[in-house]
Amino acid sequence: MKIRKVQFEISAVRPEQWPQDGLPEFAFIGRSNVGKSSLLNRLLNRKSLARVSQHPGKTQQINFYNINDTLRFADLPGYGYAQVSKTQRAAFRKWIVQYLEKREPITRVLHLVDIRHEPSVDDRDFHRLLLELQHPVLVVATKLDKIAKRDIAKHIQQIRTGLQTPNPILSISSEKNMYIDELWSVLETDLTA
Ligand code: GDP
Repeated sequence: MKIRKVQFEISAVRPEQWPQDGLPEFAFIGRSNVGKSSLLNRLLNRKSLARVSQHPGKTQQINFYNINDTLRFADLPGYGYAQVSKTQRAAFRKWIVQYLEKREPITRVLHLVDIRHEPSVDDRDFHRLLLELQHPVLVVATKLDKIAKRDIAKHIQQIRTGLQTPNPILSISSEKNMYIDELWSVLETDLTA
């Protein structure tokens, strides 16, 4: 995808604030610190459009980005960060669930998990919801550069088993720019489907 224009539109949680033009939308979801901002910046060729944080838990609302006036990214709040209050975490969960249940233009959900770790309880819960809602999903296993090549298959299997998912899993590294083009190919295929 040739990125001609990226426009940050709004940071919002209430459905009436969400952009209403019906552009196909890709939603990015994952636990806080999974590498979601880094991936968005890498996909969009921007250094710091989405804030890469030393302090997890910073994406607090849903951030909408218009790309080339032809598609949209929705960056959902990172879940599962222990340092935010229980009340706040419950609010994040509610916003995420509401978005996933109501948002019609969702074309695919990209569920990010850290390739190094077994899926957390939150990862599993949110994935189950994605399956229930029957969204097309790509599981994106982040930080591929952090594990040895010989261990990749084992880690992918661990993710597949942990999430109990029939969905495709693509491992990537934003830091080392690995398989980012492949990820774009998936999105582009969706747009022409
Ligand atoms: P977010 O909270 O999900 O938005 O995560 P960030 O993008 O802020 O990344 C969290 C931390 O993981 C930061 O220290 C990043 O530099 C690091 N990180 C993100 N992606 C990668 C990656 O592909 N490889 C490595 N080694 N580190 C990464």
